Amino acid sequence: MIDINKLEKIKKNFFQGSKEYTKNQPDFFLPHKYKPLSPSIINKFMEDFKFSLINEERLLIYIHLPFCFSECVFCNTFPYKTNKKQQEIYFKSILKEIEFYSQTGLFENREVQSIYFGGGTPTTFSNDNLKAILDKIHDSIDVVNGASITTEAHPLTLKDENRIRGLAEIGINRVSIGCQTFDSKILKICNRTHSIEEIKKIITTLNDLNILNNIDMMTGLPGQTIASLERDMEILEDIKPKAVEYIRHEIVNPIAIDIYKKNPELIVKDDDLFQMVYMMQSWMQKQGYEQNGYYENKDFWEYRYHWLKETPIIAFGSRARSYSKTISYDNHEGIEVYSKLINKKVLPIGRYIPLSKNNQMYRCLFLNLQFKKGLSLSSFKQRFNEDALIVFKEMLKLLKSFDCIQITENYISLTEAGAFFVEDVCDFIMDYTLKLESKDLKRNPHSLGSTLSRL
Ligand code: SF4
Repeated sequence: MIDINKLEKIKKNFFQGSKEYTKNQPDFFLPHKYKPLSPSIINKFMEDFKFSLINEERLLIYIHLPFCFSECVFCNTFPYKTNKKQQEIYFKSILKEIEFYSQTGLFENREVQSIYFGGGTPTTFSNDNLKAILDKIHDSIDVVNGASITTEAHPLTLKDENRIRGLAEIGINRVSIGCQTFDSKILKICNRTHSIEEIKKIITTLNDLNILNNIDMMTGLPGQTIASLERDMEILEDIKPKAVEYIRHEIVNPIAIDIYKKNPELIVKDDDLFQMVYMMQSWMQKQGYEQNGYYENKDFWEYRYHWLKETPIIAFGSRARSYSKTISYDNHEGIEVYSKLINKKVLPIGRYIPLSKNNQMYRCLFLNLQFKKGLSLSSFKQRFNEDALIVFKEMLKLLKSFDCIQITENYISLTEAGAFFVEDVCDFIMDYTLKLESKDLKRNPHSLGSTLSRL
């Protein structure tokens, strides 16, 4: 296990404390590059996008279901309040959107590698709704045998065992449960309630049904202490989920900002946060869990694995972000605009980024560094006809001087220290890339743009 005293360079040079941290994983985000897309040129744009997929045989499908009944302080996705009528309209729009894509020919001669329902809380939609979406996907494109199909879920939506059985029956084979902590005091501050027993029961049922399960956890939550984090990890050892993902609390939600303004003592001090990240990563390593910076095995989270491998993503729903290797685009943010365009038979794309060769190279490094193996220099050379060691020379020099990067004969990868603080390495690369574009640019959260229209 790595020695925390050897991590001084990281702590001193680029560790992002509670207030400065911006979630940049898994993907690269260049908000200043977006260009609005007018409906009049969407068909032409779609032809360009299809051309960018010319060598791609496999796709990932993401379905965005941005509704939730909860108002968690740590939420950075800004969902709409659950509303039956709105959700019904939205659900029907998703089905139509999938149909439109099918008509463009984009799905022809391609297969879906993996499907992911994200939110919001996708399980605020019924199993029948989720099944109808999956049926529509199956009617439109081939899905590889045994593809991983995940839904995110709030624990309270899985209290009824039959709900979980229903998910298994419709083909969901992976469930990711947002817990973040088991500390009742912190959960209260965060507007959350779930008990350890409830989570245990859910995991037991998922295991009985052979559904792969993941628990999402967080460091840096309001009022979190080292002792509380330790207790969370002991509880996880008892519950034994198949996978755990720990991320850092990102202070973007206006509810959180307000709480911290009134109670600044609840912000976790940077020294404590540093230790928490260290403790959590050491624990993950000991338990054999896979974490960003250490990805090796697609069985834990196939969708994320292939995302990091740059498999193109076709994302449905409002605000959903799609990617090929050279173009990224977002659907319109507001659900009303989204559904209105769908009703007019217009693809609901609002903005896009054509990725320059430089952006593509940095994105390639950014994603591949989250694998244990890192970036293959020969594959990079073959794809871009460039030497990665020359392209990233200055940035690598800095990361190397912080002991975060190692370069072997054919790979650039994170050192153990770099992998422990992979979130900070990602923020560092983001900052560096933005500065190359213009010294006035600043890192922004992925959720940028959503707060105004939602809360
Ligand atoms: S964190 Fe999840 S459960 Fe909480 S408000 Fe956001 S989407 Fe809902």
